[in-house]
Amino acid sequence: MFNNTNDTVFFNDDEIIHFIKTENQNDIEALFAQARKVREEHYGKSVFIRGLIEFTNHCKCDCYYCGIRCSNTKLERFRLSLDEILNCCRTGDRLGLKTFVLQGGEDPWFSTKRVTEIVSAIRQEFPDHAITLSIGERHESDYELFSRAGVNRYLLRHETADEKHYALLHPPSQNLADRKRCLWSLKKIGFQVGAGFMVGSPHQTPLTLLADIRFLEELQPQMVGIGPFIPQKDTPFSEYPHGNLTLCLKMLAITRILLPKALIPATTAMGSIAHNGRELALKAGANVVMPNLSPPDVKKLYAIYDNKAYGGPEAAENLALLKQKIINAGYEPDMNRGDAM
Ligand code: SAM
Repeated sequence: MFNNTNDTVFFNDDEIIHFIKTENQNDIEALFAQARKVREEHYGKSVFIRGLIEFTNHCKCDCYYCGIRCSNTKLERFRLSLDEILNCCRTGDRLGLKTFVLQGGEDPWFSTKRVTEIVSAIRQEFPDHAITLSIGERHESDYELFSRAGVNRYLLRHETADEKHYALLHPPSQNLADRKRCLWSLKKIGFQVGAGFMVGSPHQTPLTLLADIRFLEELQPQMVGIGPFIPQKDTPFSEYPHGNLTLCLKMLAITRILLPKALIPATTAMGSIAHNGRELALKAGANVVMPNLSPPDVKKLYAIYDNKAYGGPEAAENLALLKQKIINAGYEPDMNRGDAM
């Protein structure tokens, strides 16, 4: 199925659809083996470790799948102060982490001015660390200010590259064209950009997944986040089943093969639907993990889906446990910044 040369692999549409649909274990194993080969050619056995700081669960968006959507009145909301965010960074630094990922809902309280103040303060105290921001859609001029303040990377999953599917997951005020425009702006400004999508979101089909892969090839993001959709009890999608782990791993492997240099996390969502989800993701081509640095009392409030893993190896304070899991999976924890190649 895959030859043994180091030539770049291309898939036509039928081949991608085949891998999405197949239950043939030999084909699936061949796909994962090829993904491991490609990953090792570029990154060896390294797994980069980033510290995730979830700093606000306020959100003006109303994504039908997400537990922190503005219509969810049952959720207790929180915001971290500048001091609390800096303390998270200090903890991460003491643990040896070289990347801080600041993620939050689309929270207007964190105005451009406030965000640049936070980023500048982190940049001043940690001149050599990578700062990643993930706070959704903003004006290009805001992204430019974030870049000047010291942000190196920006994560903004496209969620689905199919317009009709996007409209089934979001209210009319949110659309795929805006999402894509933001991603292209971020690229133009020079961020290392992360796109990505959920696997198993309601109304997803093999064709929408194909569109996701083709969009990633067009955008060529440096990072790609792929994780299963997991229902959250207080959302319109509460009754849908969570995404299938094997399909998630297949999409991750296809992405690794087609974007060989991408930085791809073994996501918390994968670890949340299976106790060995993260290890399986590493074996299907993932090369990043993001333990959580947020204070313990707010971790459970960032409830984007039910039964989100936040203890054990997901918690940055248990870094030794996470490192051991990486080693047990046959890989090497890498404490460098892990910038895009
Ligand atoms: N507001 C930022 C944004 O829009 O990019 C970042 C926060 S948002 C909560 C981070 C990611 O969580 C989304 O891109 C989405 O893919 C994921 N997410 C939200 N709800 C989810 C669910 N029910 N299951 C799995 N992933 C979910």
